[in-house]
Amino acid sequence: MSKRDYYEVLGLSRNASAEEIKKAYRKLAVQYHPDKNPGDKKAEEQFKEISEAYEVLSDPQKKQMFDQFGHAANAGAAGGGGFGGFEGFAGGASMNDIFGDIFGDIFGAAGGGGRGRGGRRRGGSPGADLRTSVDITFEEAAFGTEKVISIPKTVSCETCEGTGAKPGTSPVTCSGCQGRGEVSFQQGFFAITRPCPQCHGTGQTIPNPCGTCSGSGNVKKRSQIAVKIPAGVDTGQRLKLTNEGEAGERGGPPGDLYVVINILPHDFFTRDEFDVICEVPVTFAQAALGAEVEVPTLDGKVNVKIPAGTQSHKILRLKNKGLNRLGAYGRGDQLVRVIIETPSKLTSEQKDLLRRFDELGAANAHPMHQNFFEKVKNFFG
Ligand SMILES: [Zn+2]
Ligand SMILES: [Zn+2]
Repeated sequence: MSKRDYYEVLGLSRNASAEEIKKAYRKLAVQYHPDKNPGDKKAEEQFKEISEAYEVLSDPQKKQMFDQFGHAANAGAAGGGGFGGFEGFAGGASMNDIFGDIFGDIFGAAGGGGRGRGGRRRGGSPGADLRTSVDITFEEAAFGTEKVISIPKTVSCETCEGTGAKPGTSPVTCSGCQGRGEVSFQQGFFAITRPCPQCHGTGQTIPNPCGTCSGSGNVKKRSQIAVKIPAGVDTGQRLKLTNEGEAGERGGPPGDLYVVINILPHDFFTRDEFDVICEVPVTFAQAALGAEVEVPTLDGKVNVKIPAGTQSHKILRLKNKGLNRLGAYGRGDQLVRVIIETPSKLTSEQKDLLRRFDELGAANAHPMHQNFFEKVKNFFG
C-alpha cells in the first residue's frame, strides 16, 4: 500500500501555515483518538497516520525535507534496499550528498568528510603526501642538479600486485555492503550513508590475504627517487613530485612527495635573489693606491680592478656571474663588496711611517673626514 501524502492525511493544501497544520491535527486527533474509538482498528490506523503526518509537518526541518523529496526522504535503510527510489529522484546522487549539501552544518563530518560528493564512494583511500628535504651546495643551486633521494614509503605489494589477495586467489564482493562500498542506516528521521566498515569502502573483502603484505596490498619499502632540481632554487622552496607519496589503499591513487630545498652555507658566497654576493677584503694601501685583486666567482677566479681611492663597502658589479634565474633565461650578477681592512699589529717602523703620512697633510687626502668635522663645527657655532 502506498503511503498517503501527509498534507492529504491532514486534509490540508501544500501551502498550509504552521498554525493551520496544528489546528487540523488537533481536530483529527480528537476525532480518531483510540480512547474515543475503542476496538476500532480503522480509527487506530488513521490516528497513527495523522500522528506521523503531524510529527513531520510540525518540524520545520522534516517538513522541508518532505516538501522537497516527499516520502522518499524518509525511505531507505529500514527496507534494506538503500535509497533506490531516492537516487532516482536525485539524479543518482546519494542521499548523503544531498543531505550534506542541505544540512552540512548539522551532520558535519558524518556526511562522509566531504569526500565523494556527486557520486558513490568506491575504491580505496588515496595515499598520504610525503615531505622530505634535500641538502644541496650553493653551486648546485646556481646551476641545477639531479639528486637521488632515499625515502621509506609504502609501495604496492609485488607479490599480490597490490590486490592484497594471496596469489591464485581473488578478492570477493563484500557481504556487508554487497559491493556498494557504503552502508546506510537510519538516524532519527534521516538516513545516513557511510563507507562500509567491513570493506572500508572498497566493496571487496579478501578471504585469503597475501602473506607479504598481510592483505593490505601495500608494503613499506625504502625507495630511491631521482629528483631534478632546477637552477636558481632557493632554501625553503619545495618541489612537488606527483604520485611519489605513499601508495593508495586498494587501488586508491598515491599521494605526492614534497621535497624541500636546503642550500648548505658557502665559505664566501651568499645570495640576494639571483645575485651572488662576495665580500673581498683589501688592504688600506690597495684601496688607496688601486690594485688588481683575484676574486672567486661561480665560474672560477677572475681579476678585478680596485680603483684608487675605493672606500670600504663599495660594490663592484660583475655582470652575468650570478645564479641562473629560476624558470627564466639569463643569470644574475656577482656583487663584489670591497672591505678595507684597517692595519693592526703594526711594527714600530710601520707606526712611524703612518704618523709621518698623517703629518703630510691628511686633510686633503681625506675630504670625507674634513667635510664631516666642518659640518659639526658649523652646527655648534
Ligand atoms: Zn601483497
Ligand atoms: Zn563492504
